[in-house]
Amino acid sequence: MSGRKIAVIGAGLAGLSCAARLSAAGHTVAVLDKGRSVGGRMATRREEACSWDHGAQYFTRRDPAFVALVERAAAAGHAARWMPRWPGGEQESSELWVGTPGQSALPRFLATGLDVRAGTRIVALRRERSTWVLEDDRAGRHGPFDFLVSAVPAPQAAALAAGHSTLAPKIAAVPMAPCWAVLVAFDRPLAIPLDADWQDDAVLPWIARNGSKPQRRGLEAWVLHASAAWSREHLEDPPANVRDRLLDAFAGRLGVAGLPPMSAAAAHRWRHARVEAPLGEPFLVDAAAGIGFCGDWCLDARVEAAYLSGDGLGAHLAASLERA
Ligand SMILES: Cc1cc2nc3c(=O)[nH]c(=O)nc-3n(C[C@H](O)[C@H](O)[C@H](O)COP(=O)(O)OP(=O)(O)OC[C@H]3O[C@@H](n4cnc5c(N)ncnc54)[C@H](O)[C@@H]3O)c2cc1C
Repeated sequence: MSGRKIAVIGAGLAGLSCAARLSAAGHTVAVLDKGRSVGGRMATRREEACSWDHGAQYFTRRDPAFVALVERAAAAGHAARWMPRWPGGEQESSELWVGTPGQSALPRFLATGLDVRAGTRIVALRRERSTWVLEDDRAGRHGPFDFLVSAVPAPQAAALAAGHSTLAPKIAAVPMAPCWAVLVAFDRPLAIPLDADWQDDAVLPWIARNGSKPQRRGLEAWVLHASAAWSREHLEDPPANVRDRLLDAFAGRLGVAGLPPMSAAAAHRWRHARVEAPLGEPFLVDAAAGIGFCGDWCLDARVEAAYLSGDGLGAHLAASLERA
């Protein structure tokens, strides 16, 4: 039977790809997200003179379904290749892609035509006569829905599903690591001949000149990502302290005594940044409870994995709801 009412909690790549599939199959889909706009960890922060992709830095593409999405987005001007200079002139082994003019452009492209309700944090699920009603943090109620999709990071999915699905403990066992990010812009160019560098560093493994990506504002905007271990150890530190510690580590990495004047510098905490040991299944379905679960944590800590998890769940549900 088509034409069911379905709620998708989470408008990252997983939730959007699932919603797009279900919508194309003729279901009425509402996507609810606590953020101000879509994208989740594919995020772009903008200021007047600069922008920063402070979550996912780039994406790679292997699966034909994801390749096709990226091709469509690129043809519409929402994605392009990024060819950073690596230290020592190394060449990357695979194509790196980014959204244009920011990472959030790809999820916005995927959200075209979907009913997305941003600024809606779901705090409780209610089962009412075999339908779902969702409660948000401002006492708003959404529903009733015939089926529910959770497309949020594993710890948040487990918390929402507790008491509603026997899958909750299995989901709660999927570990996700935090990441502190620093977004900084300099008044004058840093005299270093690289745009991106990953090193097995205990504090600061990733640095990237965000301005080297296509169509970005502010050439000297940089993104710094702390290691999972350091981020976990400093998870509750004040953002200003984290910012200063990571800027010191950046200066050390560049081998300079001090950094040039900055026009902006801020820290952002990703509490559930990357899955450490994925579930190993593309998605989960609790048919008895009427809930499906998707997200990068099912497959891998990558944008493409999030897309494939949501797309796979959407295709599975479209087929099984058709038979019901
Ligand atoms: C710092 C960092 C660097 C990364 N670098 C890369 C990279 O270079 N390449 C790469 O491929 N991947 C990278 N990743 C991973 C990539 O960003 C993720 O794999 C992917 O974006 C996850 O998509 P998702 O849809 O599964 O989850 P998310 O993008 O997290 O989407 C979940 C959504 O659910 C919403 N939500 C959560 N709880 C609720 C609630 N209760 N109510 C309503 N909404 C809710 C959130 O607001 C969010 O929008 C990086 C991630 C981080 C954090």
